[in-house]
Amino acid sequence: MNKDDCIFCKIANGEIPSSTIYEDEDFRIFLDLNPAARGHALLVPKEHFNDLFEMNDELCQKAMALAKKLAGRMKEALGCDGFNLVQNNGAAAGQTIFHFHLHLIPRYEGDSAGFTWNPKKASLEELEELTGLLRKN
Ligand code: 5GP
Ligand code: ZN
Repeated sequence: MNKDDCIFCKIANGEIPSSTIYEDEDFRIFLDLNPAARGHALLVPKEHFNDLFEMNDELCQKAMALAKKLAGRMKEALGCDGFNLVQNNGAAAGQTIFHFHLHLIPRYEGDSAGFTWNPKKASLEELEELTGLLRKN
């Protein structure tokens, strides 16, 4: 189902034009208007989901397989040296458009895109506490 006020619903379903590089019945992939690097594209489902947590498993699997296919194609066409897949969920994680999307970002040696964070040293206690909290078997 589409959301009336969602720009990615409109792009995904062709109501707003986009620089589309791939389309099928479930997804559209189009170029980002503010690319982090040359060829930066966005993979979006045609159906509205706010984020990863709302997406069903079948579409998640299809999205990752499709990302792999397009990343390979883009790498060959653009001659990039590496590739980032980035997927933000929630404002705290940098999500600005609340319709699931996967960033496909070709990377070039020496480009200034830079997806880094400030690594901190985890203590053994912290690692143990988190393992206990998160591991479910
Ligand atoms: P987010 O920060 O939510 O993970 O990423 C949203 C992305 O959508 C940004 O990279 C932004 O440049 C891109 N974007 C926002 N509005 C439009 C639009 O109307 N068209 C296109 N092609 N990209 C958009
Ligand atoms: Zn939407």
